Amino acid sequence: MQEKVLIKLKNQYPTEQYEKILQAYEFAKKAHEGQKRQSGEDYFVHPCAVSEILIDMGLDSETVMAAFLHDVIEDTPHTSEELNELFGKSVVMLVNGVTKLNKLQFKSSVDEQAENLRKMLFAMSDDIRVIIIKLADRLHNMRTLLFKSADRQKEISRETLDIYAPIAERLGMGTIKGELEDLAMRYLNPDDYYALVQKISSKKVERQEFVQNVVKDIKAKLAEMKIDGEVNGRPKHFYSIYKKMQSGKEFEQIYDLIAVRIIVDTIKDCYAVLGAIHTMWKPLPGRFKDYIAMPKTNNYQSLHTTVISQYGSPFEIQIRTHEMHDIAEFGIAAHWKYKEGRLTSDQSIMDNRMQWIRSIMEVQKDLRDNAEFLQSLKVDLYPDEVFVITPKGKVVSLPKGATGIDFAYAVHTEVGNKCVGIKVDGKIVPINTRLTNNSLVEVITSNASKGPSRDWLKFVATASARNKIRAYFKREMREENIKRGREMLEREAKHRNYNLSALLNNEEWLKYFKNRYGANGNMDDIYAEIGYGNLTTNKVILKLIDCFKKSGAEMPPIISGVKSNKPTSKKGTGVLIRGYDDFLIRLAHCCNPVPGDKIVGYISRGRGVSIHRADCPNMKHIEDERIIEANWSSNMSSQFTANLEVNCINKSKLLVDVTTFFANRKQTLNAVNMRAGDDLNAIITISVDITNIQELDDMINKLRGIEGVFDVHRI
Ligand code: MN
Repeated sequence: MQEKVLIKLKNQYPTEQYEKILQAYEFAKKAHEGQKRQSGEDYFVHPCAVSEILIDMGLDSETVMAAFLHDVIEDTPHTSEELNELFGKSVVMLVNGVTKLNKLQFKSSVDEQAENLRKMLFAMSDDIRVIIIKLADRLHNMRTLLFKSADRQKEISRETLDIYAPIAERLGMGTIKGELEDLAMRYLNPDDYYALVQKISSKKVERQEFVQNVVKDIKAKLAEMKIDGEVNGRPKHFYSIYKKMQSGKEFEQIYDLIAVRIIVDTIKDCYAVLGAIHTMWKPLPGRFKDYIAMPKTNNYQSLHTTVISQYGSPFEIQIRTHEMHDIAEFGIAAHWKYKEGRLTSDQSIMDNRMQWIRSIMEVQKDLRDNAEFLQSLKVDLYPDEVFVITPKGKVVSLPKGATGIDFAYAVHTEVGNKCVGIKVDGKIVPINTRLTNNSLVEVITSNASKGPSRDWLKFVATASARNKIRAYFKREMREENIKRGREMLEREAKHRNYNLSALLNNEEWLKYFKNRYGANGNMDDIYAEIGYGNLTTNKVILKLIDCFKKSGAEMPPIISGVKSNKPTSKKGTGVLIRGYDDFLIRLAHCCNPVPGDKIVGYISRGRGVSIHRADCPNMKHIEDERIIEANWSSNMSSQFTANLEVNCINKSKLLVDVTTFFANRKQTLNAVNMRAGDDLNAIITISVDITNIQELDDMINKLRGIEGVFDVHRI
């Protein structure tokens, strides 16, 4: 380990600098002699590892020296004066800066947290290298966190995720940020972490093979185009995948488990390669991003595209120059790598980042209130989140794009379910309005609210709000289904003249039931399945009778006196709801649909499905979600009521002719009424049972043929 670092030093730094660094190395080694880490290793392993991280990023010799010495003042008797004499002012200043940061503990009260962040920012604005050393220090501590107590692991990980990873991101240090997040997740959410590791590694071999093939193809293409470039495929960080899953994406929908990177010399090559890639594989629409023309706020630049491989699976390709790559990996630290070298454009990037810190320092001078300061800083540290304020002054963080509905559900599930409106800064706004930073958000709730609307699912931004709305509908539907299912089963039992509760109260059935639904199973589960249409009443009744017979009872009990004397629905209802014939249905009286009419179902609360003609005027203003597909069943023997109006001459003989007509057809009438109209005319209204629309049409045509009848139509 230590030898490896020395070799790297020798290779990377000019002799003069190398010798100075070596001096710091020897000094720190001696100073920490005899000290051990919790892992049992020599303490010096730690400063060595921190230095190596910085050497690999190409930082300057002063930073590397300070990294070797960073714990000397804190943990050994040596003083800053001593170091000042030996290594000079800059190095000591860096060591002191890191030592000060080590004393900060980011937890407890808002005041302390704000105060600590202020100190950290001061240290950063003094010399940004302090925070770069601190990030390397934190990275190595996270890598060796295994040896701490479980409580400390969680504490340090929380702080890493809340403070250090966002700062690394803001400074563009993608590699460190990614590793810090993954390590913190491993200690904070071990279950999710290991589940994800397992999921990702389950197809590792195939994926590696896949990547090798893709890399080979791209390399061949580059050679053909005579473009120099590096191509590699690297797995994405767990935490970024985890975050995508938390925002509601399924694991299978996340295309960039692996990013294939192509690193070329010039921007011109980037676009040329992009064009070639799109001829090799079909790009997935809407996934191309040009961060070269439009860099991210932390100066990240690259071309991103997602293409569909020959095996049908999409994967992401990132194309960038070497300089862009270093900036993506090391962010602000890349500045030192290019300091004395070939590029000068980095100065503006450096200025940009320093500008960010300076502007925060400016702002903080005006913000005396710690909570307010913390708030303003968080807005900057977490650009993907919005921070809004509750009427009680509490700060709630939500992902960017969140609406008042997301806010309502973040406050409490019931607040979300009863939400009827949203006020932002005192004004009522449309509920799908995206919230902005620092707005005061108030949820208007009402006990009369009928619950969330399905439309909300179209715009909510948080997975948690989406899940809570879905859960509401699932529960709501379940209750309706249980009710409907119970009614349907009772009806079926009655039709067959069985007493349902007697059938249910049978040992064989209970045995069968527990077998299928478990010991905690509930009859409601079966009712819900019936109501939902997964299970037919027929099947359940037959099973019940079967169980009853098996139990040795002579005959299932029969209830007496209840006989269905209506000729209707001997075999089901004659209407299929989504293909099932077991729904509790009613034919609507407003339009009296008959077989052959185009029909729709309307889900009424607690009263089953009412069937209307598709052109029924009452159906025009109904919410879509309560309309359900309905068709006439082809093998039905049910009868339906049709109401007819016959316009005719006012003669009593005509009424006889009409009723005789029906008698000849062996059709009983439900009702007949004749009333005198204007002049010599009369209107006969008839209510008659028919089985389908052909029969009705035939009836109407023949009625029209009776002498003295002008017209016949349905009403
Ligand atoms: Mn340290």
